[in-house]
Amino acid sequence: DITEHKQLEWSLEEQANTDCLTGCASRRHFLEHAEQEFLRIRRYGGEMSILALDLDHFKAINDTYGHHAGDLTLKKMAAVCREILRGVDMIGRLGGEEFTILLPETGSSRALEVARRLCQAIAAAEVSIPPQPPFQFTTSIGVASLRENDITLEIMLNRADQALYKAKNEGRNRVCGV
Ligand code: GH3
Ligand code: MG
Ligand code: MG
Repeated sequence: DITEHKQLEWSLEEQANTDCLTGCASRRHFLEHAEQEFLRIRRYGGEMSILALDLDHFKAINDTYGHHAGDLTLKKMAAVCREILRGVDMIGRLGGEEFTILLPETGSSRALEVARRLCQAIAAAEVSIPPQPPFQFTTSIGVASLRENDITLEIMLNRADQALYKAKNEGRNRVCGV
């Protein structure tokens, strides 16, 4: 049956595109999508920004509250981001406790504003696993916006990473650009 075959194909693709813990785009899907957007904007013009996020002291969350609590923290982080972002923005889980966000049609000042809003909302969120008391967590965010001489997406991703590294070094729970 062709319809059944198509449905199976579609659902397998959906699975490959989605990180099953957080519901974010998988690493591969995110990078493919970001690459397409990058090429489109390089060709037709426009703005785009990339945010690199990494949970702060996540190892300590696992060690203190357990691996399950760590997983719930990752889910919470994704849920808070989804609440704040627009439908056109894409959240990818690059691996472990590292996420990347693609903001199409967004220049550097608005990207910094969005990143700061995310950072604050994440710091205000709580993970609750009764009967344990709820706990909070923070994240560091690096921001990179498209520049004229960014000839590959990788250059932008590297700049977002550098900015993230700076945010970690400056004390975490903050946003940096480069
Ligand atoms: P920093 O503030 O410098 O980012 O410190 P950190 O502790 O967040 O960084 P580190 O890279 O040392 O620790 C990341 C931890 O994330 C270690 C690993 O066990 C944990 N981890 C990775 N993937 C998962 C996951 O899917 N679930 C859970 N619960 N933990 C994970
Ligand atoms: Mg990390
Ligand atoms: Mg971390």
